[in-house]
Amino acid sequence: KKSPQIIDGKAFAAELRQRVADAVPAFQQAAGRSPGLAVVLVGEDPASQVYVRSKHKATIAAGMESFEHRLDTNVSQDDLLTLIDQLNTDDAVDGILVQLPLPDHMDDKAVIAAIDPAKDVDGFHVVNAGRLAVGEEAMVPCTPLGSLMLLKHALGDLSGMDAVVVGRSNIVGKPMAQLLLRENCTVTLAHSRTRNLADVVRRADIVVAAVGRAEMVRGDWLKSGAVVIDVGINRLPPAEGAEKGRLVGDVATDEALRADVAAITPVPGGVGPMTIACLMRNTLVAACRRAGLADPE
Ligand code: NDP
Repeated sequence: KKSPQIIDGKAFAAELRQRVADAVPAFQQAAGRSPGLAVVLVGEDPASQVYVRSKHKATIAAGMESFEHRLDTNVSQDDLLTLIDQLNTDDAVDGILVQLPLPDHMDDKAVIAAIDPAKDVDGFHVVNAGRLAVGEEAMVPCTPLGSLMLLKHALGDLSGMDAVVVGRSNIVGKPMAQLLLRENCTVTLAHSRTRNLADVVRRADIVVAAVGRAEMVRGDWLKSGAVVIDVGINRLPPAEGAEKGRLVGDVATDEALRADVAAITPVPGGVGPMTIACLMRNTLVAACRRAGLADPE
């Protein structure tokens, strides 16, 4: 009996980031400038600050330009939209990422809609969501894109496989379902109103869990030989005396391993690192498309 593979997302992400870095000099040669990513952070949310910082570091490490814009929590939405307009027309900027969540007085949808779809490296603009849905060239959201890369790495051709995605958010579940459909999977998109979720998941060759509920997917929901992508990041309450609780995914990993899955992503170290690596790749892709160059490999 083959023992299950723990998919090393950290190592795979490091390789992807290196591939991006290796492709940057050719872009610079052709375009006469570096690819540039602008990240906009509004307010002081601690988690957002950590994300923005690691995006900045990854951008620099890839040899690209990083433009950081930190705005006060109380900035008006109009002032934010003015900044986005400037970034839209700035030729040195290939990618624009507005870190979510935005403060309550702002409308996320209106802000995302203001980003030039060609520079929308998060892939959240409705134009990109629509292009993905109709099979046109799009900017694809980073977390599902990274999840798909890990799946193809583990399985090769996904054609004809039964895939169940649990969670239907616009940033993870829905685009994940679109990507799997594009790979010719038979896709089920499950959510909080799905009946007999365990039975639905039990049919799947591929399970993608993107719910945000600690260890919700149990071992006995998984068929032997399934490949499991655990997108969830949940912090458990701290143990007695500890400062922070453990991070766990949406899947009970130990149970899944005992259920004889073929492969599973760990939390942390699975999908998480892929998200930033894909952001780097999307920035390079946006830069190439804007410069009229072919997509990087
Ligand atoms: P959302 O909260 O936006 O969506 C959660 C989805 O799960 C909804 O569609 C909801 O259904 C569904 N759901 C909730 N409860 C149940 C249930 N009991 N049974 C079945 N489905 C349920 O979350 P996100 O998509 O933004 O994120 C999901 C998880 O992924 C989170 O843990 C988040 O932290 C993590 N994440 C990780 C990233 C990474 O880089 N690795 C990036 C982004 C997210 P309904 O629509 O019916 O309400």
